[in-house]
Parts: sequence; structure tokens; C-alpha cells
Amino acid sequence: MCGKYCIDRGARSVNEIASSRRPFRAPHHGASAVALVGGGNRPRPGEISLAHLGVLFLDELPEFQRSALEALRQPLETGVITVARASETVHFPAAFQLVAAMNPCPCGYLGDGSGRCRCSETRLQTYRSRLSGPLLDRFDLQVELSRVPLEHMTNPVSAGESAAAAHSVSAARDRQLIRHGILNARLSDRALWQKVPLDREGRRLLIRAAERWRLSARCCTRILKVARTIADLAADPDVTVPHVAEAIQLRCLERLL
Ligand SMILES: [Zn+2]
Repeated sequence: MCGKYCIDRGARSVNEIASSRRPFRAPHHGASAVALVGGGNRPRPGEISLAHLGVLFLDELPEFQRSALEALRQPLETGVITVARASETVHFPAAFQLVAAMNPCPCGYLGDGSGRCRCSETRLQTYRSRLSGPLLDRFDLQVELSRVPLEHMTNPVSAGESAAAAHSVSAARDRQLIRHGILNARLSDRALWQKVPLDREGRRLLIRAAERWRLSARCCTRILKVARTIADLAADPDVTVPHVAEAIQLRCLERLL
């Protein structure tokens, strides 16, 4: 058995390698686990490797096969997908940013104020249970969006607002690199808890939230990581209660399910 690390064995198209643009992949929810993460008799990269160093967008997340979604867990942690066969073991790069969207219920009308949703509680639970706790844990942010008002459609974000946001994010990244020599997202769990101290009130708030919503240790680690990033965006040197509170608010699914 041999081990290989395949950088570009079909993992990225020629055009993507030639250009400096990061890939954006949006596979259909009918994609199989092999199509999504790679595999096959002659191991080939999947969508997660095609999205390497870019974004993988999964629309209608609960509609994907459960096995396909669960197969994302390992590469989300390691940035690599390993495909083992009798004759060889192949490692494909898969350091992607996962962005996903889902409706609030199967019909999509729940909570929009129209009263059109007719989904039963059982149907709602079945729909939401397609997403496992360990998979949800791996999302840093879970945000509930309301229906987009028409005036926002006709009045999109200006170039100036977009540039200001990009500047703010860039400055936050610089602060992270100066402080730890690595981005918050890349800090190991152990390093995060060692290098990001929480004061007594912040720790108390996190413990209360964990008990109330039965949050896992992995989920609490994500909250601390997001809290550190919120503080970086505000140029605050320390993580305090408001940062932790905002990070908890940005996990709506754990509070819903
Ligand atoms: Zn509904």
C-alpha cells in the first residue's frame, strides 16, 4: 500500500490553477458522497477538493444524502480527504470554506409572517434531524435570515460599504497573525483555550449557554473562536462577555433544534 498526496490530480481545473481567483463550487443536492468528497475504484477528487482554498456552497443542505454530509466531517477538521483502496491510499487537498443554506421548514414558509406554512411538527423534526449534531458543531456561524425586502434588492450594497467591510476583515486578520502567527480559524482546540483567556464573567456565560442548550465541547470551542474573531473585528485586545454573547447568538440552530 502506498500513500500519495495529490495536489492537482484533477483537483482543480486548468483555468482555476492558471488564475488567482479562488474556486467557488455549488454542487446539486443530488450529488453522491463520492461526487462530493471523492473516491471511486480509481480514486478521483470530489467537489470538496475542487473547492480547495475556496468556497463550497451547499444549497438546500438537508436535501443532501446523509452519508454525503457525514463524509464532510473529517476534511472539515483536517483540510485533507483520504481515499483508501487495496492498492493505494490517496490524499486529496480539501481545505475549503463550507457555506450552506436551508429553509426553515420543508415548504419554506415557516416564520415568514404569511401563515402559509402547513408543515406538521413531525415533518419539521424529520427535516431538521437530517443534520447531525456533529455536523452542525462544525459550522462556526448559523444565522437566521428574514425575507429580503424589495428595497434591498433594488438598493444593493455599495462598493464603498463593501470596501469598508473588506478593510475591516483584513485588519482583523492582521491582528490575528501578529498575536498568534496564525489565523484564529487555524488554531488547534488546545492552543485556542490556552491562548485565548476568558475572564470569569465570559466563562460563566459560556458555561450557562452550554448547559441550557446542551452544547458540545466542540461547539463551545467554536463559540470561543468566533468570540475571539468578533473582538478582533472591534480591535479589542481581550475577549469579554459581549463578544461571547454575540458568538452564542450566531448559533441559531443549536438553540432551535
Ligand atoms: Zn412549512
